[in-house]
Amino acid sequence: MGDAGLVWRRKGREQDALYEQIGRFLADHRLSPDPLHYAFVHAVLSAPDSPLAREVRELVDGGVRLTHQEVERLGGRLVMGADPGRRPRDPAPVPNREADRLVTETVAQMDSFAMLMHAMHFETRDFGRDLAESAAAIELQSSTSTVDELSRLASAMISRVRDSEYKLAEATREAEMLRGKLAEARTTARRDPMTGLANRLAFAEAYDQRATLPAPHCIALCDVDRFKRINDVHGHLVGDRVLKVLGETLQESCAEHLVARHGGEEFVLLLNGLQLSAAAELLDSARRSVSGKRFRNRETGASLGAITFSAGVTAVRADEPVDVAIERADRLLYAAKAQGRDRICAG
Ligand code: GH3
Ligand code: MG
Ligand code: MG
Repeated sequence: MGDAGLVWRRKGREQDALYEQIGRFLADHRLSPDPLHYAFVHAVLSAPDSPLAREVRELVDGGVRLTHQEVERLGGRLVMGADPGRRPRDPAPVPNREADRLVTETVAQMDSFAMLMHAMHFETRDFGRDLAESAAAIELQSSTSTVDELSRLASAMISRVRDSEYKLAEATREAEMLRGKLAEARTTARRDPMTGLANRLAFAEAYDQRATLPAPHCIALCDVDRFKRINDVHGHLVGDRVLKVLGETLQESCAEHLVARHGGEEFVLLLNGLQLSAAAELLDSARRSVSGKRFRNRETGASLGAITFSAGVTAVRADEPVDVAIERADRLLYAAKAQGRDRICAG
């Protein structure tokens, strides 16, 4: 077995030891092995230097038993995520709070699943012990009490199974809800909210996985010509609408390919299954579609004049990082601007 296998086995043993400790703690304090107690004792035993663990040690000093009410009181802070030993009281602002919150929720959900599984394990084990004791009792007793004992056992078994099923169904429902939220957040994080197109992150991911798409691959970087003037004359809202229409037109003209918003008034495309000359032709037909459109200011009715874009198109190698390819496309775009705009430069 390799190092990784040994480390994994050691970690597994450490975890088993921790779960044993949790089990002993619960038994010593006559606490039932439900998820709240589990989570609480897990937090206490896995971080023995935390303020929570210290507080618990003081409470149970001299053999005093910890009560369910105390677990609820102290554990409430854990559930609220404000245990001072684990997190800063006033967390520094983070760029993506929603993603962070979902990750925290997922981790908590996984923890709760693990705890639920262990709680069920303890339930079954305890039940097995009860069963063995009852079986011994049955052997010694008369037939009437045998029936009583069997019926007591059967109802105990039914109620424990029901309880476990309920807890499992609840945990599964929460996990499904969370999975849905994560999928939604994943999509949102990869979409440009204004145009509805893929954003730069989605483009970079698709670029990295282009081997799964038909080869050869080219990229194109497009930049609207004299866009600042549109904003200056007609305002940003009109400018935004123009960007949306441009995004749609590019997507229609290059329907089989990925069109993403690179940022500002720039779009980036991943073209699959096209040689450089065919890619440049496709971009040129998109350029003609855009310049052929007649844009009008909805509020004033004034014409926005012809709107054009310039683009740099380049073929990419299989091992080329996205930044390198974009930099080359950007140089070609710059050349198109320098040559008078409203044109495509390929290279
Ligand atoms: P060039 O032909 O050289 O590209 O000229 P330009 O005016 O397009 O270039 P410049 O980079 O100077 O201006 C780009 C403008 O795009 C500036 C910025 O205000 C505007 N812009 C960037 N993002 C948005 C946006 O989301 N909405 C609107 N309305 N304007 C944007
Ligand atoms: Mg620009
Ligand atoms: Mg521009």
